[in-house]
Amino acid sequence: MDGGEEVTPLIFGEHDRPDIDVLIQGRLIVKVLVVEDEVKTAKFLKKGLSEAGYVVDIAADGLEGLHLALEVDFDLIILDVMLPGQDGWHVLARLREAGRKALVLMLTARDTVHERVRGFELGADDYLIKPFAFSELLARVRSLLRRSTPRAQDTLRMADLEIDLLRHRATRAGQKIDLTSKEFVLLTLLARRAGEVLSRTQIAETVWDMNFDSDTNVVDVNMRRLRSKVDDPFQLKLIRTVRGAGYVLEAEQ
Ligand code: CA
Repeated sequence: MDGGEEVTPLIFGEHDRPDIDVLIQGRLIVKVLVVEDEVKTAKFLKKGLSEAGYVVDIAADGLEGLHLALEVDFDLIILDVMLPGQDGWHVLARLREAGRKALVLMLTARDTVHERVRGFELGADDYLIKPFAFSELLARVRSLLRRSTPRAQDTLRMADLEIDLLRHRATRAGQKIDLTSKEFVLLTLLARRAGEVLSRTQIAETVWDMNFDSDTNVVDVNMRRLRSKVDDPFQLKLIRTVRGAGYVLEAEQ
């Protein structure tokens, strides 16, 4: 019984595909493009950023990068300067000419004032000198995204559950819940669509950015883990399974 709890209404945007777009707007699913011709570096960045919860695409040269960046609405582009075909500066200039506002983090091998000034003139948001530690790149990425994050939807609440979208933290009754980044996205998706039954396919497509036709088992497995953390220790259960339909987050059962 939680009748005395104050519940802040969850806010939704008006989108055709709210399951994906609202999350992007809330910067929970962040699409990142890595334009890097060195295969090892590209793979390493993709792996690290994916583990940090980002959805990552790779382009191996300037032309492919430019093409992808014009096709897909990325939140952030990590753009190497030294690329075959069109170099990073050229790609950046073309993107800005085309009115693309994605955040751009340039990777440059040379730290000269000239390069730096040129990058900012062309519309780069930040740059990083190679070689760099992944932790440093991740810190830059987070800082860029934080600066541009819309402030309106910082916290989602339901009963005693609180989701802090900026700090990527969830609590119940003030107790911190230790979630992986995917579990956090999963919980936030449920919270943003609270009261609405989400199918396994919807969840899989949104949280994993993939089309699962058959293997929606991954949803069940992750949902079980999420519940063990969010619901098991508490009397009031918030996540409910709707037989044959999917999952719903709601305070009243
Ligand atoms: Ca390169």
